[in-house]
Amino acid sequence: MAVIVITGGAGFLGSHLCDRFIQNGDEVIAIDNFLTGDADNIAHLFGHKKFKFIFYDITNFTHIPGNVDFVLHFASPASPMDYLKLPIQTLKVGSLGTHKMLGLAKEKKARFLLASTSEVYGDPLIHPQPETYWGNVNPIGLRGVYDEAKRFAEALTMAYHRYHGLDTRIVRIFNTYGPRMRIDDGRAIPTFISQALRNEDVTVYGSGKQTRSICYVDDLIEGIFRLLFVDYYEPVNIGNPDEISIIDLAMEIIQLCGSKSNIVFKPLPEDDPKVRQPDISLARKLLNWEPKIPRQEGLMKTIEYFRYKMNL
Ligand code: UDP
Repeated sequence: MAVIVITGGAGFLGSHLCDRFIQNGDEVIAIDNFLTGDADNIAHLFGHKKFKFIFYDITNFTHIPGNVDFVLHFASPASPMDYLKLPIQTLKVGSLGTHKMLGLAKEKKARFLLASTSEVYGDPLIHPQPETYWGNVNPIGLRGVYDEAKRFAEALTMAYHRYHGLDTRIVRIFNTYGPRMRIDDGRAIPTFISQALRNEDVTVYGSGKQTRSICYVDDLIEGIFRLLFVDYYEPVNIGNPDEISIIDLAMEIIQLCGSKSNIVFKPLPEDDPKVRQPDISLARKLLNWEPKIPRQEGLMKTIEYFRYKMNL
């Protein structure tokens, strides 16, 4: 049995990770300050004897008593709308928060895993994106607060690995969706589903020809779980190469919801990437992993969750 600290433990991905390690028989210490996380995501774990929750802002010095085997750093606003509203908190959790969690891992001689992002590639000039691509990021743009914080977090993680010999992992997470996304988090999938279920206009930004490649949360969690247990410290892309344009995604969601919604076009946000698709050759080889859940199945599970959350 291992002891796992999960920052952002009440968030979308953090809470699924808590479930995964509890199911594995491990002890989980989840930390969250509910900036974008939600206690509902972990309510079912309260009272479990191997689950502890700490309400805390990890940009401050963090003391955890006792043994810790793994530190999984997942705390951060992750939706463009959230980091637009919370630019300084986003920069702080990626920089100061990562520093504190690396310090905790070093103190405990624990393995550290950083949740990084496809945003380190910015608006990519290479398609699909392999881990060796250095990216095309505007440091002072509105998305820069997230992109640069995560790029700094990767640099700091590698420095702790090289200088302190810390055992580290870096996962670059591509667009992921599923139950426990916040209905109002502003990202395309939750927005389209909630609009479609209410038969409201579905808001497509720009022409809708920009693409994303979307991964169902269970596939992502499995990839991260496997990465933690292989000996590899350079960044690894985890995502689903299933690429779709945003307009096609909007139409598919309207159809799967059985909705009467129309599509309306709104201005494209600044620095919105035109394309995005993970090259997952490395993850396939290293982890013997492959995303398995087809898009329509994943979307139906997500729609079901949203119906329940929206009392429909
Ligand atoms: N998008 C959209 N309508 C919305 C929300 C998002 O057309 O109501 C677009 C957004 O401009 C981007 C894509 O959908 O091109 C994916 O956006 P999301 O916020 O989900 O994540 P991103 O991949 O940009 O971080």
